[in-house]
Amino acid sequence: MITFKLAKDLTKYLEKQKQVGNSIGFIPTMGALHEGHLSLLKKSVEMSKVTVCSIFVNPTQFNNREDLEKYPRTVSEDILLLEESRCDILFLPDENEMYPDEQSKQKHFDLGHLETILEGKFRPGHFQGVCLVMEKLLKFVNPDFLFLGQKDFQQCLVIQKLVHLLHDDTKIIICPILREPGGLAMSSRNVRLSPSDRKLASQLHQALVSIENRMDGHHFPELKEQAIHDLENKGFKVEYLELAGKTDLQILPDFKVKKELIILVAAFLSGIRLIDNLLINP
Ligand code: AMP
Repeated sequence: MITFKLAKDLTKYLEKQKQVGNSIGFIPTMGALHEGHLSLLKKSVEMSKVTVCSIFVNPTQFNNREDLEKYPRTVSEDILLLEESRCDILFLPDENEMYPDEQSKQKHFDLGHLETILEGKFRPGHFQGVCLVMEKLLKFVNPDFLFLGQKDFQQCLVIQKLVHLLHDDTKIIICPILREPGGLAMSSRNVRLSPSDRKLASQLHQALVSIENRMDGHHFPELKEQAIHDLENKGFKVEYLELAGKTDLQILPDFKVKKELIILVAAFLSGIRLIDNLLINP
């Protein structure tokens, strides 16, 4: 694996790869890699000639200073995992490389309703930060395929919109959520959970599954209220639990036949914010 710290070196190398007809797959990450990230890597290795992974804890997408400071950083372990996963290129920029001055943080992206609902509503500015960093990364890498995790479903739609706004022809591949044996969606933040909270955290996924199992003969508001009540009794603080259309992420009041649906949830457990979602087929 070759590691680049400077964007210009990375771009120069990748342009040569493109000139000889090699396809490029890209997995942007914030490091503290786990099996979920590695599943994206695996997909890229299958589909592309050259697999590029970036590790950058992007400060502009954190709307909470403590979350940024406590975000796990495990670069040496990450490098070993990437090598084992047959990653070809690691892009490991520092903050100065991504944001050389204040002006490089000033751009605004029109994300429409995606910015005012769910993660957009509860994490103001988050998706602007995601777009800031992704615009730069897409320019540096210019990938054929971009691998994203369904775990961050709203982020996938935001990046899809960004790619469209940039008139970029990168193909986005959304990969399924990898879970711990109990059902907890794998996440870099999970290492911050105590062993007992980690067990309890799987209830978040169970709550979504239980809604799916009971959707015949029940209305969503009733199931939502019950799920929030149960989760809060177990110690979660639920920020949102919503039903939406899968393609447009329009929030829906109830289950609709003939529409692909998704239930999305965000909740705190002992101060650690967890998100999850479940695609359902009515
Ligand atoms: P992050 O490092 O959290 O920014 O995540 C980098 C990429 O990995 C994003 O596209 C995430 O959606 C994806 N990802 C994170 N957790 C999982 C998971 N449990 N399963 C699949 N993909 C994931």
